[in-house]
Amino acid sequence: MEEPDTQRAQDLLAYIDASPSPWHAVANAAAQLEGRGYRRLAEDEPWQLEPGGAYYVVRDDSSLIAFRIGKGALTRGGFRIVGAHTDSPGFRVKPNAAHAKGPLTALGVEIYGGPILASFADRDLTLAGRVMVRDDSAPGGLGSRLVHFDRPLVRLPNLAIHMNREVNKEGLKFDYQDQLPLFLAALSEELPPEERFRGLLAEQAGVAADDLRSWGLAVADTQPGAFWGPEGEFIADSQLDNLASCHAALAALPDEGPEAGVAVAALFDHEEVGSESYKGASGNFLESVLARIGSGLGLDGDQYRSVLASSWLVSADMAHAYHPGWPRHHDDQHQVRVNEGPVIKINAAQRYATDDRGEAYFARLCEDAGVPMQRYIHRNDLPCGATIGPLLAARLGLRTMDVGSAMWAMHSARESAGARDPAMLMRVLACFYAG
Ligand SMILES: [Zn+2]
Repeated sequence: MEEPDTQRAQDLLAYIDASPSPWHAVANAAAQLEGRGYRRLAEDEPWQLEPGGAYYVVRDDSSLIAFRIGKGALTRGGFRIVGAHTDSPGFRVKPNAAHAKGPLTALGVEIYGGPILASFADRDLTLAGRVMVRDDSAPGGLGSRLVHFDRPLVRLPNLAIHMNREVNKEGLKFDYQDQLPLFLAALSEELPPEERFRGLLAEQAGVAADDLRSWGLAVADTQPGAFWGPEGEFIADSQLDNLASCHAALAALPDEGPEAGVAVAALFDHEEVGSESYKGASGNFLESVLARIGSGLGLDGDQYRSVLASSWLVSADMAHAYHPGWPRHHDDQHQVRVNEGPVIKINAAQRYATDDRGEAYFARLCEDAGVPMQRYIHRNDLPCGATIGPLLAARLGLRTMDVGSAMWAMHSARESAGARDPAMLMRVLACFYAG
């Protein structure tokens, strides 16, 4: 099953499977950009930018901004920015993680963002992320390594129904402190838990256990992405929220300079925990990169501000598809469906940054791209989630549209969506970049 319009979905699943953590998502994005001729810039060095040039910047290994400068004046096209996030809800391994729990070596984890905890039970889980290691050849004597245990390593087993008779009525509930530590191994007298875990991690990172300094480790699923349905018309994978949008933004970035303006893809870590960090969307990463592009192209302060005022941001994040099992959780007039095209998200309280001008602009872009468009509104009697859209709109004074593809089971360990939507989202983002 390889119709042209599901090739994009195939490519997305491969990207997700190779990106079990935000650090991997950025490393794979960087590798893709290198292959397309984008040149890496370092934030702690001066930049030399040229019209028509393509560049990318990485902040702390898990946020990335890529941009291609148009051949014409920046003052004509402005910045056309697509923003998305590299992180997904789940668990992060604690520093003093390994400990004895009954007959087992268990791993303590913190809850990261708002995962559907029960969806992590009984899955073939593993660990992936970044470890910091002693490296005398690196600045400050510290280096980093990406690690991904490419096999089931840890587990969060259910309790048998015979001991949890109400589970189907009450739902699966965990005590956040006592019942989330992951099962890693049988307890061994020769190898204390901490030593066992550090040994595993050091081996995976290819360093001596003594050289391991710290880690940022996500709990990841090992099941590869899949097409499902009679025609393979749907997809399932972890992290569709929001690697699907990162993937579409990267794919849409032009391979040749736009006529004017600058095409920017900004992928941020830490959205699921509020974005307020050094590399999150509320930090100064995007602001700093845009300002340096402006000064690198010779704009003075007044010209730069006029360019910002003529710019647009597409905040790309996933949308809630209509679930016929829960019809009353949707607004009847704003049901959105998988495989029926990009969704524009609207919220009067500005949890989504779209206004009527942005809605009209996005409708025109979808028309230009030849794809249908859907409109989403959250029910009045349910609290609405937010995106990076309002944060960046407020911080930078950017006109903003909140858009994304429809999906089911947002924040589950195994999310699902439509196989035809990735191609449609990519097409409309490419139209946006083209101006
Ligand atoms: Zn999201």
